[in-house]
Amino acid sequence: MNMVEPRHFSGLRGKLALDAPLSKYTSWRAGGGADIVYTPADRDDLASFLRQLPIFERVTAIGLGSNTLIRDGGVRGAVVLMHDPGGVLAVADGLIYAEAGVACPKLARFAAVHDCGEAEFLAGIPGTVGGALAMNGGCYGGETWSYVAKVETLKRDGSFSVRTPADYTIGYRSVTRADGRALSELFTAAWFRFPAGNRSGARDKIRELLARRLATQPLDLPNAGSVFRNPPGDHAARLIESAGLKGYAVGGAHVSEKHANFIVNPERSASAADIEALILHMQQIVAAKTGITLEPEVRIIGEAAAA
Ligand SMILES: Cc1cc2nc3c(=O)[nH]c(=O)nc-3n(C[C@H](O)[C@H](O)[C@H](O)COP(=O)(O)OP(=O)(O)OC[C@H]3O[C@@H](n4cnc5c(N)ncnc54)[C@H](O)[C@@H]3O)c2cc1C
Repeated sequence: MNMVEPRHFSGLRGKLALDAPLSKYTSWRAGGGADIVYTPADRDDLASFLRQLPIFERVTAIGLGSNTLIRDGGVRGAVVLMHDPGGVLAVADGLIYAEAGVACPKLARFAAVHDCGEAEFLAGIPGTVGGALAMNGGCYGGETWSYVAKVETLKRDGSFSVRTPADYTIGYRSVTRADGRALSELFTAAWFRFPAGNRSGARDKIRELLARRLATQPLDLPNAGSVFRNPPGDHAARLIESAGLKGYAVGGAHVSEKHANFIVNPERSASAADIEALILHMQQIVAAKTGITLEPEVRIIGEAAAA
């Protein structure tokens, strides 16, 4: 039962909703909601929300929900929706400053226009800067943290800190605190150091990378990108395809015919339970046929629906 009521908060400028659905905030267009959903007006408003939220309530960030499966029973505590189409992007002291709610493709284009190189890979990651920081998002040889000079973070008590890459252990699609423990703070902004490039070269490269994606990924259907991490020296998609799983379905969730490491929800009818059952099935069949246990790259959160 929800213990929080709107009267617990004052002076907030964002949008507060209780027992609210979240499927439209995930790229799979599936899954449950959360007890409390807050869309902050800006970073100071988010800090104010956290300071007023009863301390026993857990907080989960969602950016563009492009790597997240929320189980059908929903998330206990508060979800903060971080995507901010008006989020600040700026050039400062030779670095590019981006608020966490900015979409990665927008950062890629901003970097190109400012004659920076090597940010083009971000154009194909349909998430936020915050999500890319939490996941160390990357593709085509580029990874988010290779270009991070520093980040701004927000603690559960509503206080800000500035941290550097040395404060984290960074790996393939993985970021933890330096001591290996899970991240406990939200990312609210980052300063990136990209090498000098040129805008027309960067624009051409973005166009080329997007065309490559369009040709190989089912971008017209709800999906969450690669479901599994690539195992060392191999590709999850190759293993799934060789196990004969392309097109296999559980309820409304299907292994994409176009890219075997994608699960699509073509009719928008899949439950999170369908998607999770399909993930488990793919894992089991690939393990039985190849001896390799695929590890999910997507984050699965929340509780199963009550039986
Ligand atoms: C078509 C498609 C293609 C994709 N291609 C790629 C690719 O090439 N490379 C790649 O790496 N990924 C890819 N992805 C996956 C996804 O886009 C990335 O993982 C992206 O970085 C997730 O960002 P998000 O804002 O959507 O995060 P969400 O899914 O909203 O969240 C992901 C995780 O980050 C955490 N998080 C989000 N925001 C914050 C924050 N501000 N502070 C702290 N934690 C936060 C969440 O709690 C969650 O644990 C693809 C997805 C799709 C749908």
